[in-house]
Amino acid sequence: MRNLVDAFDDIAFRLSNFGGGEFLDDLQLSDGLVSGSIASAAVIACSDMGWLLRYVCSDESVNLHLFQNFGHRFDTGGFLETMVDSKVERVVIYGHSPCEYARFRARAMVEHRSSDFSNDEKSGDLLEVYSLALESDDQSIWQNVGRYNVLFELMKMAEHPAIEAACSKGMLKLHGWFFNAESAQLEVFDSSKAKFVEQKFKLDESAIVRFLPGEGLVGER
Ligand SMILES: [Zn+2]
Repeated sequence: MRNLVDAFDDIAFRLSNFGGGEFLDDLQLSDGLVSGSIASAAVIACSDMGWLLRYVCSDESVNLHLFQNFGHRFDTGGFLETMVDSKVERVVIYGHSPCEYARFRARAMVEHRSSDFSNDEKSGDLLEVYSLALESDDQSIWQNVGRYNVLFELMKMAEHPAIEAACSKGMLKLHGWFFNAESAQLEVFDSSKAKFVEQKFKLDESAIVRFLPGEGLVGER
């Protein structure tokens, strides 16, 4: 049986080979939006991040769309329509640990093989990653599951025809963030290294950070 590290390395390597991924941290996103070098961006975060969800922009007038749903999924809540209508140039999948939804989802998938999950999700590495995590209650394993979930969603995006087309034209770039509550650090996926790299929340030092106005939220469940 393959282990979680192998499964992670495998998906990280596949994403690194995918041309649309690029390193982008919170400050780069905020600065890009404010300066106009990024015209429009979207962040898709997990619902149960609560107050841990850091807002990543310093100006209300910028074109930033925040989606929050359980599992930071892109194929729900009008994301694709927004991506097209607002000409989104950057998408950040933003996961975290500890994530109650990840545990709930893992249990549901492994124990019940629920029909709510796609065939992609029920077969292959994801199921194996969840099975391994459920056998252990180790915090570091669940952190890895959280990071894996971000990459899994990015890979699903990369394989979506509309997104793949936009990426291949250089119109869209995909990014992965992971908030590790245990270390209180933001980790950013660096596709050139095929791994998450710990970043200090640079915007924490900025006096102009603010949370997203409610109208940007697209909730679910
Ligand atoms: Zn969560």
